[in-house]
Amino acid sequence: MSERIFISPAKYVQGKNAIQRIGEYVKDIGNQAIVIADETVWEIAANDVVKHLKEESIEVEEVVFNGEASKAEMERISKIAGESNSTVVVGVGGGKTLDTAKAVSDEVKGQTVIVPTTASTDAPTSALSVVYSNEGVFEGYRFYDKNPDLVIVDTKIVAGAPKRFLSSGIADALATWVEARSVIENKGKTMAGGYTTIAAQAIAEKCEETLFKYAELAYESVKAKAVTPALENVVEANTLLSGLGFESGGLGAAHAIHNGFTALDGDIHHLTHGEKVAFGTLVQLALEERSKEEIERYIKLYISLELPVTLEDIKLKDASREDIMKVAEAATVDEETIHEAFKVTADDVADAIYAADQYAKSYKEKYQK
Ligand SMILES: [Zn+2]
Repeated sequence: MSERIFISPAKYVQGKNAIQRIGEYVKDIGNQAIVIADETVWEIAANDVVKHLKEESIEVEEVVFNGEASKAEMERISKIAGESNSTVVVGVGGGKTLDTAKAVSDEVKGQTVIVPTTASTDAPTSALSVVYSNEGVFEGYRFYDKNPDLVIVDTKIVAGAPKRFLSSGIADALATWVEARSVIENKGKTMAGGYTTIAAQAIAEKCEETLFKYAELAYESVKAKAVTPALENVVEANTLLSGLGFESGGLGAAHAIHNGFTALDGDIHHLTHGEKVAFGTLVQLALEERSKEEIERYIKLYISLELPVTLEDIKLKDASREDIMKVAEAATVDEETIHEAFKVTADDVADAIYAADQYAKSYKEKYQK
């Protein structure tokens, strides 16, 4: 079979102070909600979400997320959702909270409402979760029957988040076109379970174009905690375009290499998802026959957004070839997405990791003091 498949959330809402209207959207889909957020996010946004849900007479069960999108945490919260008869599961926060909310909603067969408080990953719109061990090691993907029913992004909240969240989201979104293109060229399958549509290809390309145009302005906007058209464009690119683009466009090597990095111990665990993906994208470009100009275009943008581009930047300056092989082997296990885009071995990936590091070092030597 050679079916093209495109999937997406039912509704996407983005704007300044958008969560003030969350009750109006949620009341159409249910009247008993469970709201999941970590301790910090309860202060920043989740208390407001609850307030606006209650304004529309929606009952709310409140849960504090423990920080890891693990099987145990998903089971713990699913139990609470079941006991409170919640039919609407609202995740408020970053990628791991949102991925946990999707799992909970799947368990109780509920309606999924996703409220990202940062534009740091492309997790919000997809019909899958990334599952980690209690220690934060990548375990695998969990797929669901449907995408979220509602995604609400309040750009005022996003603008108030630390700048590192936005740059991480941009890095995650910059991988979208690089990965989709490689899957399309190799006629690989996507996370949606089929081949790429023209729609997903166009979305992934537009994602890249938007970021090269507006990423730096958006990054400056967040430093000023200002909602600007540039920020709105980049929030949409990071969240909607990247979300649809990776899921229905295809994941290739960059995310597989990211997943490989989570297999290592040490300081690399302090990097965000997007930061590891930034380096993974450079590795993918090094693995492909991309021109010096194209690779340097990415390095330049990453540097301007204070993203990591070398092994030293990702705290692996002193990593042994053995460690790098461990990453490369994890990135090329049979189930990894790299095989949708490439015919490569772990040894090829290890070489590309060293090459990407060297390309960026040489760029820095040429253009930076
Ligand atoms: Zn990602």
